[in-house]
Amino acid sequence: MSVVVVGNGMAGARLVGELRRRDRRLPVTVFGAEESPPYNRVLLSDVLAGRSGPGDIGLTAPGWYAGNDVDARLGVPVTGVDRAARTVTSADGRVTPYDALVLATGSAPVVPPLRGMDAAGVVAFRTIEDCRAILRHAAAARSAVVVGGGLLGLEAARGLAGRGMPVTVVHRPGHLMDRQLDPEAGGVLRRVLADLGVATFLGARVAAARTAGGRVTGVELDDGTLLEADLVVLACGVRPETGLASAAGLPVGRGVLVDDRLRSVGDPRVHAIGECAQHQDTMYGLVAPAWEQAGVVADVLTGRDARYAGSRPVTRLKAAGIDLAAMGETGLGDDEAEVVRFADPVRGTYKKVVIKDDRLVGAILLGETGTAGLLSQLYTRAAPLPPDRLHLLFHGMGTGPPADTPVRIPDAAVVCHCNNVTKGGIRASWEAGSRDVRDVAAGTRATTGCGGCRDTVTGILEWLRSQDAGASPAAPATVNPL
Ligand SMILES: Cc1cc2nc3c(=O)[nH]c(=O)nc-3n(C[C@H](O)[C@H](O)[C@H](O)COP(=O)(O)OP(=O)(O)OC[C@H]3O[C@@H](n4cnc5c(N)ncnc54)[C@H](O)[C@@H]3O)c2cc1C
Repeated sequence: MSVVVVGNGMAGARLVGELRRRDRRLPVTVFGAEESPPYNRVLLSDVLAGRSGPGDIGLTAPGWYAGNDVDARLGVPVTGVDRAARTVTSADGRVTPYDALVLATGSAPVVPPLRGMDAAGVVAFRTIEDCRAILRHAAAARSAVVVGGGLLGLEAARGLAGRGMPVTVVHRPGHLMDRQLDPEAGGVLRRVLADLGVATFLGARVAAARTAGGRVTGVELDDGTLLEADLVVLACGVRPETGLASAAGLPVGRGVLVDDRLRSVGDPRVHAIGECAQHQDTMYGLVAPAWEQAGVVADVLTGRDARYAGSRPVTRLKAAGIDLAAMGETGLGDDEAEVVRFADPVRGTYKKVVIKDDRLVGAILLGETGTAGLLSQLYTRAAPLPPDRLHLLFHGMGTGPPADTPVRIPDAAVVCHCNNVTKGGIRASWEAGSRDVRDVAAGTRATTGCGGCRDTVTGILEWLRSQDAGASPAAPATVNPL
């Protein structure tokens, strides 16, 4: 049995690691079109904002592949799959046989087919090389335009504004982060961004990039508005990389169609995971589902009976000065569900929970995210809600239990959503000798995805320390457990 993995990004690299954890001898080859060893793509926003360096976000230690007997072909894209012969052909002309093939080819950024988009200074935001290019241009740029006001675009805009550059976001829908937020939350977010030096044009369409001498000088909108900019960052969507699968005759919808074992519905020897896969009509653009899928495929390929049942991901914006968490169906109104909301636009706060059949089906916390951990637990577990709704919005208010403290978080509650690590897992890690976040990360991987759970893990460790020291567990440190 030999496994070939195509794509060494967040999903592919995780799969290779998971395979090795389960089987030291299984022959594994991984192809990566990018030359660099795998890195945490999620943290590129931190690199852009100057919170991390490009060298800080690697996913494998130097020498890991050689030390673990994995044949890693970095900078070598796969160009074709021959399913009858069970081989892949790579750009270096080599032909590599497989018994099981896993496509983990991710997505490519959408570059609008408009005049000037190939000019110097126009850069998509997807890879570490893109990030380096943006930083190079930013060093000399006086102002920037970001095309796209989704999660990625806003993180890029905030990162650039934090470097002291005037930034304008151009977004085609009528409100920011329209996939995660309702219009009211989008409006509050817009005000918050304006205070942080990010201007926004909503309902606006880019018509072309203006150029001079091959360099970008601005962006024209279709209503004739001209925005000057010598850096244009494209964050206007992604397209799943399904070309190999289509060319190999595999069924493809928006992504490679897979069953509950993440096998292609057209060939049980081919799997697909991450952003290129379509499971039960759903495509995910977040890392937690990609890593969950990698774990399931690692199980399946090493003879375990595992199934993927879909994910309920939580989105967090990683931007200095903006606290935002969103999950599920946030657009539902009072006629469709029980909706509880609080808005204080002047102070940049908006909170909303959407409830159906006494279960949380959606939530937005903007500006103050003290109950984000509680809500994400209730959402991911589809747990019944306590009758008092107030403490869902405000930490420590209402008559319900203060569920988002280290004491009260149930052991089964997921603390690190990217890596599916529960509070019980962190407690077990403590009992095995972990004493700080670094130890826990090494033992459980908690905090190594988007990093949003770091404060919670710290709080749980403090609480465990205080318990061991004999302090009263009745007075725990209060943390945000997301
Ligand atoms: C800046 C940024 C910030 C983000 N922030 C968050 C966040 O806060 N939270 C979150 O959950 N998600 C976030 N995401 C999304 C997250 O990074 C993706 O969902 C995740 O990377 C998907 O993993 P993947 O392996 O499917 O795709 P990728 O990580 O894109 O990996 C695919 C890899 O396959 C390679 N490849 C493609 N074709 C071939 C081929 N033919 N041969 C060989 N290799 C090939 C590509 O070069 C790439 O390296 C962010 C993404 C970006 C870009």
